[in-house]
Amino acid sequence: MAKPFASSADLGEKKRTLELLADGVYALTAEGDPNIGAIEGEDFVVCFEALATPVAAQEWIDLLREHTDKPITHLVLSHYHAVRVLGAAAYGAEHVIAHETTKKLIDERGQEDWDSEFGRMPRLFKEPESIPGLTHPTETFSGRHVIDLGGDRGNLVLEYCGRGHTAGDIVAWVEKPKVLFAGDLVEAEAALYTGDAFHWDWSGATLDRLKDYGAEFLIGGRGGVTRGREAVDGAIEQTREFIRVMIREVEAVHARGGTLKEAFDATHTALAPQFGHWPIFEHCLPFDVQRVWDELDGVDWPRVWTAERDREVWDQLQN
Ligand SMILES: [Zn+2]
Repeated sequence: MAKPFASSADLGEKKRTLELLADGVYALTAEGDPNIGAIEGEDFVVCFEALATPVAAQEWIDLLREHTDKPITHLVLSHYHAVRVLGAAAYGAEHVIAHETTKKLIDERGQEDWDSEFGRMPRLFKEPESIPGLTHPTETFSGRHVIDLGGDRGNLVLEYCGRGHTAGDIVAWVEKPKVLFAGDLVEAEAALYTGDAFHWDWSGATLDRLKDYGAEFLIGGRGGVTRGREAVDGAIEQTREFIRVMIREVEAVHARGGTLKEAFDATHTALAPQFGHWPIFEHCLPFDVQRVWDELDGVDWPRVWTAERDREVWDQLQN
């Protein structure tokens, strides 16, 4: 029997958990669905990530409003993917901040990505007609952007750590309580989506930089909150291991002149014992293997995923 496409058959609601990690630092996790966060300043709130639609984002804002009524003035987008950005309108934030390459990617392929992700993960698009259009950042930066939280709250540092899950991922580092919002650069017990990734950069210098923060709390793109230095390093290394196994398996098949399907099967066999039970593993793997293969072919800038290309690769590899 054919496997249902991507996450199209995953229709069960996930339980959401809002956690207060430190004074004014909130994480909302959802059993493997995309995570989001909020950081309180003295008289404002910064939100991290926007979910897939304004209706979905509003449900999170309603939860946050049980804890603070300060105005949400800043929305930080970790990267360009639709399920992270298209809910932005709900926040009404004056400052919508992203990396300059994220802006470029939205301009270049935002609509294609919207169509692709809607097809792959329809459940995340709660009331899709509430999306007013593509989300465009109002402010961008290339290296580091610091927001003074006011009072004695210290700084919120937004930083680019190199190419990884996409060409333009940023992290949010809450200095005082040592909380790192890592976006999709790290997943805690959820499979990695790497269809737009730079596997060699990501599994090398980029993850090294994330480790250098010495975080006490890490909130990845999906999965639960990781607490304590040792566990944080463990989550980062688990992410690195997932990528390295993919590189190793795909590279071997590519080098001997094998096929993409053979590379997929070898990678699946190698990863499944450790990672196969994680959310979205089957969904992600065809797109991930295709992108490793492309990098080995010398395709530096990721090819655009369209709803049609998604189905072609899926049918070739998962059926
Ligand atoms: Zn992503």
